[in-house]
Amino acid sequence: MRTLIRDIAFLMTGNSRQEELTDAYVVIDDNVISSVGTGPLPPNISPDRTLSGAHKLMMPGFVNTHHHLFQTLFRNVPQVEHAKLFDWLTFLYNHWQYIDEEAVYVSAQTGLCEMLKTGVTTTTDHLYLYPHGNNALFDAEVTAARNIGVRFYPTRGSMSLSRKDGGLPPDTVVQTDDEILSESERVIHQYHDRGRYAMTRVALAPCSPFSVTTRLMKETAALAEKEDVLLHTHLAETQDEEAFCLETFGARPTEYMEHVGWLTPRTWFAHVVWASEEDIRKLAEHECGMAHCPASNMRLGSGIAPVTAMKQTAMRIGIGVDGSASNDTNSYIGEIRLATLLQRVRYGAGALTSREALGMATMGGARVLRMDSDIGSIEAGKAADLIMWNLDTLEFAGALHDPFTAPVMCDAKQVDFSMVNGQVVIEQGNFANVDLPELIAHQNSIASALMMR
Ligand SMILES: [Zn+2]
Repeated sequence: MRTLIRDIAFLMTGNSRQEELTDAYVVIDDNVISSVGTGPLPPNISPDRTLSGAHKLMMPGFVNTHHHLFQTLFRNVPQVEHAKLFDWLTFLYNHWQYIDEEAVYVSAQTGLCEMLKTGVTTTTDHLYLYPHGNNALFDAEVTAARNIGVRFYPTRGSMSLSRKDGGLPPDTVVQTDDEILSESERVIHQYHDRGRYAMTRVALAPCSPFSVTTRLMKETAALAEKEDVLLHTHLAETQDEEAFCLETFGARPTEYMEHVGWLTPRTWFAHVVWASEEDIRKLAEHECGMAHCPASNMRLGSGIAPVTAMKQTAMRIGIGVDGSASNDTNSYIGEIRLATLLQRVRYGAGALTSREALGMATMGGARVLRMDSDIGSIEAGKAADLIMWNLDTLEFAGALHDPFTAPVMCDAKQVDFSMVNGQVVIEQGNFANVDLPELIAHQNSIASALMMR
């Protein structure tokens, strides 16, 4: 099937020349972009479907690089509204132990819809919670993403160090190292698609230094090497974590990652707030990726990640909304805006431009997920993952001096159109595949039942 999107008022390609086009068109054959241009249409296009981009700004779909979708059930919990990370986790573990497949499925759909609405077309997820050994939770979220139509890169998370062994989580939510490793193999073999334009890929993701054993970290790295998949975890999020690592391992978090064989080009870390110059040098030397999560870092008072220093290096930088229990919204365009603003708090007004932040949200995220040959820009040969903003809305009124940066600078609320892998998922602001009122009611009933436990 051939789709033509014509009369696109403004088009940010995100390609290597950073081309920004006006009066443009895009031709899509099935799920892949076949041509991009400006001015009169080439003859003999013969589309099966024609869509209009008039009064709209088109961008590549955003790539979210860190999340815990199940946490959308735990937004705005008053008992931890002002807690820092370790206190916040300790309180919530007691409710998280009751999560089941239905809760994971519905919360994933809720988070995915809110991200799609705010520009995401590809997202990862870090599901590290399998209470009472319920491994089917992973399958539930893959099904949720497939039914919504988003490109999905779930990571098989894990926790194996419970309180009795010196870790933070209770016994009910941890598994043994051996079970985690065999489940990791199972989900890779079942879901990891190595083909071009894959809609599902899997990475391995022990939760954090303070919730898994050193053996699991090392063996997970070895398994990732053997299976040729990516690695993901939290790193250097808080000063408490640094103190824990020094006391437990005699090493700072980045040194510990080096020790367990995790400083590799297949790794990306979430947060990396407390990174020294030496840490950044090591992370860059190994071409590690990072997911910058400004809202979560602010919400938990964790600190400001040194993105302005990192962007000068070979580190691969993406942006992530993080789980909803530490960022009560899944607004991805909001996260890009916060990334832009927060760097300026630490480094001054010239620290990070909105175009640089948009680059991190698109090609940056694609590089973090090692999918940059397939997604992240609008050009021939890339997957048709694209979004459009309607420029005739209140938030953009008076802001079209530079339409390309208006969604970031003017706090845009939602896309008008979204296409993932050639399939329209949002048209005129409405979801194609979701009964939103039903989803919201279902999510609310599960959320309140879990907080009553
Ligand atoms: Zn996280």
